[in-house]
Amino acid sequence: MSKTFEIAVFHGDGIGPEIMAPTLDILNTISDAYDFRYVECPAGAASYLDVGSDLPQASLDAARKADAILLSALGDPAVRYPDGTEMTPQIDIRIALDLYAGIRPVRIVPGMKTPLNLPDDKTVDFVLVRESTEGLFHTQGKGRVEADFAEETLRLTRKTTTKVCDYTFRLAQDRKALGHPGRVTSVDKANVFRAFAFWRDIFDDVARGYPDLTADHAYVDAMALWFVLKPWDWDVMVTENMFGDILSDLGAGLMGGLGMAPSADIGDDHALFQPCHGSAPDIAGKGIANPFAMILSACMMLDWLGRRHDMPLMIDDAARIQTAVDACLAAGETTGDLGGLLDCKGAGAAVMARL
Ligand code: ATP
Ligand code: MG
Repeated sequence: MSKTFEIAVFHGDGIGPEIMAPTLDILNTISDAYDFRYVECPAGAASYLDVGSDLPQASLDAARKADAILLSALGDPAVRYPDGTEMTPQIDIRIALDLYAGIRPVRIVPGMKTPLNLPDDKTVDFVLVRESTEGLFHTQGKGRVEADFAEETLRLTRKTTTKVCDYTFRLAQDRKALGHPGRVTSVDKANVFRAFAFWRDIFDDVARGYPDLTADHAYVDAMALWFVLKPWDWDVMVTENMFGDILSDLGAGLMGGLGMAPSADIGDDHALFQPCHGSAPDIAGKGIANPFAMILSACMMLDWLGRRHDMPLMIDDAARIQTAVDACLAAGETTGDLGGLLDCKGAGAAVMARL
């Protein structure tokens, strides 16, 4: 009998519904051994205009109840709260469900339009884990601003730092089983901030529980340099919220842009999968959006569900979809942002054809 998973689906704004459609088509055809029941969750700018909330309680409740959450892109810079501030429903979901580990894989495969001049014998395949609930985002837009100074707080807790480091070491272990080096790097600024010395101590404590893995440290400024000069040199890294925010966009840039960058936000009890890019209002409705980041985010969901529910078949299916996307890239079967001739539907169909 096939197992059914309940998935909370946020179709979102702008190009969101366009990239979600081929992604759900792929999920619906990938296997007979399991299937998905989708729960539609309105949120974002359209929802705000419609019902006065960018994250209706019913949508948040459905997300909390689901086995996993699939989200395309929420928000539209043209739609703001009456006080002029931008809505950030993704961050609200992250905080509400305590999704502390932001997973940002960076892979460069043949055919990808990278701005780097990679040596032929090098492949880039690393994962950045961004702590996503505290750090320099602690004040959540409510920092103190006086006439002559402004102040924000960097806050790290032992509990969350331990959890995010532990998650990262487990991820490195899973990757080691697939042939990766099994190396975890703490990215911090322990030379200047006492808070990051605290972070490093916790990282080192957690590392002692994984003697089969290599653990080391790097300063965030140096890491920005190494991302560009030696991106093949890394396996898994873990860092604070703001550093992770910046480095993950740099990682997306290495992959030639946001259209290729998937992500996951993982907590103890919930997980959300979404592309790194936004709702791209400039190209919405034209049918030309690149669906690969969304499709690769769905792969991460299959992999996570497969590990959580001990269904190796799902983990294999995730790898199979990723291989199909790689093959499309190698063959130039891509959307215009990557130099190809396909539209969004066509790119989805190209992946499907290779499955
Ligand atoms: P947000 O603040 O919501 O993250 P953003 O300001 O970072 O949004 P995006 O919506 O991500 O902006 O768009 C940035 C640029 O990248 C735009 O020019 C957009 O058209 C392009 N872009 C983003 N996603 C895609 C995609 N899937 N396919 C093609 N182009 C994209
Ligand atoms: Mg952005």
